[in-house]
Amino acid sequence: KLYNQVQDLKGNIRVYCRVRPFLPGQPSGLSVVEATDDQTLTIPNPGKYGKGKKSFNFNKVFGPSASQEQVFSDTQPLIRSVLDGYNVCIFAYGQTGSGKTYTMTGPKELTTEGLGVNYRALGDLFQISEQRKDSICYEIYVQMIEIYNEQVRDLLVTDVNTLEIRNNSSNGVNVPNANLVPVTSTTEVIHLMTLGHKNRTVGSTAMNDRSSRSHSCLTVHVQGRDLTSGSTLRGCMHLVDLAGSERADKSEAIGDRLKEAQHINRSLSALGDVISSLAQKQSHVPYRNSKLTQLLQDSLGGQAKTLMFVHISPEPDALGETISTLKFAERVS
Ligand code: ADP
Ligand code: MG
Repeated sequence: KLYNQVQDLKGNIRVYCRVRPFLPGQPSGLSVVEATDDQTLTIPNPGKYGKGKKSFNFNKVFGPSASQEQVFSDTQPLIRSVLDGYNVCIFAYGQTGSGKTYTMTGPKELTTEGLGVNYRALGDLFQISEQRKDSICYEIYVQMIEIYNEQVRDLLVTDVNTLEIRNNSSNGVNVPNANLVPVTSTTEVIHLMTLGHKNRTVGSTAMNDRSSRSHSCLTVHVQGRDLTSGSTLRGCMHLVDLAGSERADKSEAIGDRLKEAQHINRSLSALGDVISSLAQKQSHVPYRNSKLTQLLQDSLGGQAKTLMFVHISPEPDALGETISTLKFAERVS
């Protein structure tokens, strides 16, 4: 309750920044960014990208040594509000290699400490629904879909498929033909996500790593029934690992690559447009401009809560993309 009041005062859109560490085996050097305090990211020397140091403000900045647990603990209240009937969207934004999948899922070799937001979120929902079981009976379901070239695909089935997004007044926005799987434990969720991840690579080649070219979305549907009054509530949470935000390399952006890049640019800017018009409380919110914003329409705006993780690579080579990532973040906050 208190959390929700505090949230309402501060608005429903939060932007967190996470800087990943230099990676083992990669040339390390001086980071081009600095977390000057827990809400400010500074670029001391933007070089050819501008004179003098630049600073960017966030609701929270996580430096390279922040653990998965620390990142999650600042996300937890938002996640818990799903059990009170709120809709929530959590996004991972950034160029390929900046740590989006690490934040949402974890490192390739999963360890308990490495578990990302998705697993911890579900684990938390299971734990709280267990604690409340004498007063509220919760049912939790997940869906896992991908948006690639403006086509929606169910990742929980092995064949390649195309799904429709529906928007009707009684059920709100949904993808009626996507598998909706009841879950009761983190182990089940890990199993489903591993399956989804496998299916995602179907149709991709070494040259064309689909995971960086598509948006993947784990949707959690929660239904609760109050055991005393019989009243019911519904909450929905979308956990979205966005496609890499980098501009396509001009020399290689031909044919399929160019088409992918155009779809990604368009859908990320459609997302930016929706969030910035919500942040500025504009009356018209342009949800219709991409499959992604259509899908998330119910969970962006109104009473819904939005959290964007903006990911930053520390390498000097990445500075150009880092600056465009920070400009995107400025636009949505
Ligand atoms: P993206 O999904 O944005 O393309 P990844 O999440 O795959 O990026 O991260 C790229 C690499 O960096 C992976 O090897 C990942 O394990 C590692 N990495 C990312 N963020 C962190 C972090 N905060 N701490 C340690 N390693 C990280
Ligand atoms: Mg990734």
